[in-house]
This record gives sequence, structure tokens and C-alpha cells, in this order.
Amino acid sequence: MNYNFLKLLIEGLNNNKGWLKTWENVNPKKYYDIIVIGGGGHGLATAFYLASEFKEMNVAVLERGDIGLGNVGRNTTIIRSNYLLKENIPFYEFSLKLWEGLEKSLNYNAMVSQRGVLNIFHTDYQRDTYTRRGNSMILNGADAELLNVDEIKRMYPFFDYDNARFPIKGGLLQRRGGTVRHDAVAWGYAHAANKLGVDIIQNCEVINFRIKKNKVEGVDTSKGYISCKKVGCAVAGSSSILLSKLNMQLPIESHVLQAFVSESLKPVISGVVTFGAGHFYISQSNKGGLVFGGDIDGYNSYAQRGNLATLEDVCESGMALMPMLGNCRLLRTWGGTMDMSMDGSPIIDKIHIKNIFLNAGWCYGGFKATPASGWCFAHLISNGKPHKLISNYTLNRFYDGSIIDEKGQGAQPNLH
Ligand SMILES: Cc1cc2nc3c(=O)[nH]c(=O)nc-3n(C[C@H](O)[C@H](O)[C@H](O)COP(=O)(O)OP(=O)(O)OC[C@H]3O[C@@H](n4cnc5c(N)ncnc54)[C@H](O)[C@@H]3O)c2cc1C
Repeated sequence: MNYNFLKLLIEGLNNNKGWLKTWENVNPKKYYDIIVIGGGGHGLATAFYLASEFKEMNVAVLERGDIGLGNVGRNTTIIRSNYLLKENIPFYEFSLKLWEGLEKSLNYNAMVSQRGVLNIFHTDYQRDTYTRRGNSMILNGADAELLNVDEIKRMYPFFDYDNARFPIKGGLLQRRGGTVRHDAVAWGYAHAANKLGVDIIQNCEVINFRIKKNKVEGVDTSKGYISCKKVGCAVAGSSSILLSKLNMQLPIESHVLQAFVSESLKPVISGVVTFGAGHFYISQSNKGGLVFGGDIDGYNSYAQRGNLATLEDVCESGMALMPMLGNCRLLRTWGGTMDMSMDGSPIIDKIHIKNIFLNAGWCYGGFKATPASGWCFAHLISNGKPHKLISNYTLNRFYDGSIIDEKGQGAQPNLH
């Protein structure tokens, strides 16, 4: 189905009776050229680009639950490319460019909103590091601006500028950063991939792999055996569980990250803002709720809910930046299982078994990467060779030491 103004008008007059399904839910065929495991943002984007860019016409996405219920529908919707390292910026900048044209290429309203991402700093040392990051972004083709306090005051007069402990000294702004409606991204990719002939198979869990002479032959699923030539694994927080079926131990830990939404308010915050003296980020959804988050809970878990201590910590950080937050009621919270890698950067690579490919280690920054990850993973699966933007995202880097540690935290997954 094509979404356009005329269709909207006709359906408006027709009591909305003529809308077709966004995608067809089908039973699996016996064989596919390529199976993508995981119907989150990355798996669906991979399937879409496999069909649209690499002309792979016999592809299925196997999702153990329903589309959109994993991290792709649980995140705080922030997109940006404000990275420091040369191994990361070009990849995330490519992703931002794909976001900019996404709705047109999917024919789906994903509410891409480039409302700006502002990282606030509170010390002279932090100003230096943010300036360095901004320069690195500009050198790599991304946009960045350093703002002084007066410029921030004009944008957000209600912040606590003179907090004795955390005075605001300025900020690094990426105007092209912003937010995208997260579940619409999943539905949009599923819709567009399905239109190109990709089978979207929900409630189909991959239980095991069948391997012969070190080469994949198919997968056992809750809907029976499906044979295939190639398999792409894009299961985010479940990566360690899935790859353990191949006796692999990944350099990944699973942790829970929470998100919080307040009651609906009149427009308050026009963009995305991060607090530099704690871990707190906030934006406002189109429905008026303040959407915010902070650190992961810090212990290994597969639970999709977190604990109250983190909630308290996040709200404290929020009120240190924006005291008026204390008057606002919290409406709901939830959690998602994060695939935290040892250096905080992702893995998009082949594994030791022929024709199985891995996409994992997104930590809590994988939503913004969705389009580029899908594109580059599709390139790897289809051509068998890495796209130049992911040539550093190898599994081997954890053996040879060429890690990509954006935060400089060392091998501490819970600190990235
Ligand atoms: C609270 C929260 C806030 C976040 N905020 C941001 C943000 O603001 N910006 C940002 O860039 N990132 C953010 N993230 C991170 C981002 O959401 C994830 O990194 C990204 O969504 C992971 O990729 P995915 O969408 O493919 O994952 P998912 O949507 O989790 O997809 C993986 C899918 O695999 C399926 N699966 C697992 N095992 C199997 C199996 N055996 N067989 C079949 N299917 C299987 C799961 O059911 C799931 O649907 C946030 C995450 C959370 C939880």
C-alpha cells in the first residue's frame, strides 16, 4: 500500500475502511537464500536493504515475538552522530544521512524530527573535551556548534544555571540530531521490506542452527526447520544466548536500561538535552510527555524492567539540571535488554562458521545506528565482504587489542 495525501483524503471520507495491512504475516517457506534472525530495527533494516540495494529477493525475517516489542520500541528515540573517534563518526554520520531521507525511501511517516541535540558542560575541562569532539565531528563531515551560556539561556531559560555544584558553562550542539518515532521505524522498515517481497514471520523463535562441514544449512525454529544459504543474526540483547547455540562466548554482557515518561505537558523542551554532570538525557514527545533516561542499571540481566535506585538516580540528575521537573508526575517506566560490548562499540562481522554473520554489541546507542547498521550488514551478508564503514567493527579486535573505546572506560561493559 502506498501512503500519500490522496489516500489519506479518500480514507478520511470512507471511514478508514480501505487501509490494507502494513505487512502480511505469513508462514515460513521451506527455504530462503537469506534468513535474518531478529525483527528489531536492525534486522528489519537489514532485510529492507538486502532487497532494495542488493537485490536479494528470497529473504525472511524471523522474529520470536511481535515486531516492535524489542529495544526498537523501547528506546528514548534519540538520533545523532556526535562521536569522537574516526572509527565511529563516519558510520553514524552515514546513518544520520539515511535518517534524513528515510521516510521517502520507506514511504512511511516515521516522524523524523531534527530538533537538535545539545550536550551541556559544567567545567573547563569538559569544555575542552567537548570542543575536541566537536572539531572531530566537523573534520569528519558532521555538524557541530559550541554554544556559550547566554545562547543556551535563550533556548532553555528554565535550567539551573547557577547551581553551585554544577554551574552550566556551555554546550555542544548538533542541530541535525533529534528524535524519530521508534515503533514507526520498525513498522516502516517491515512495511517497505514486505512490499519488496521479504517474508516477515512473527512468533517464530530460532532455537538452533544446523551446521554441516562448518557451513550453515538452516535453522530450527518454533515453526519447524527452515533451510537457507546464509543467516544474519541481529537479536541485540539476546545475542549471547543465540550465539551460545554455536558454542560461542561473545565479548558482550546483557544489561537493563530504563526509560521514563512523564504526564503530558504543553511544549517545554524543543530539542534533546543531555546533562553533563550526571547521566541524564531528555526530550519531549509529540504527545507532550517528557521522555528521559540515564545510566544502565549496572548488573547483568535479561529482565525488561529495572529497579527503583536507578529511577531515583536519574530523577536526581534531572532535577539538578531542571528543578521544575520535581513538580511533574512520572507516568510510566520500562526497561530493555542492552547488548553491552567490552569497548562500547558494535560488532558487524562474519563468524567462524561459513555464511553466518553477526550484528550485535549496540550498547544503548543502537537506535540511531539502525539505517547504517542495516545497510552495512546487508552489504556484508550479500557480498561476503565488509562495507568500508564497518571495517573496524570486527570480532577480532577483542583478540588483537584494536578496540574502539569511545569513552575511554576500558573493558567495563557497564560503564560504556
Ligand atoms: C530504554 C532504552 C533507551 C534507549 N535509547 C536509545 C536512544 O535514545 N538512542 C539510541 O540510539 N539507542 C537507544 N537505545 C538502544 C537501542 O534501542 C538498541 O540498541 C537497538 O534498538 C537494538 O537493535 P534492534 O532494534 O534490532 O533490537 P531489538 O528491537 O531488541 O530487536 C532484536 C529482536 O530479536 C528478537 N529475538 C531475540 N532472540 C531471538 C530468536 N532466538 N529468534 C528470533 N528472534 C529473536 C527479539 O524478540 C527482538 O525483537 C535504547 C534502548 C533502551 C532499552
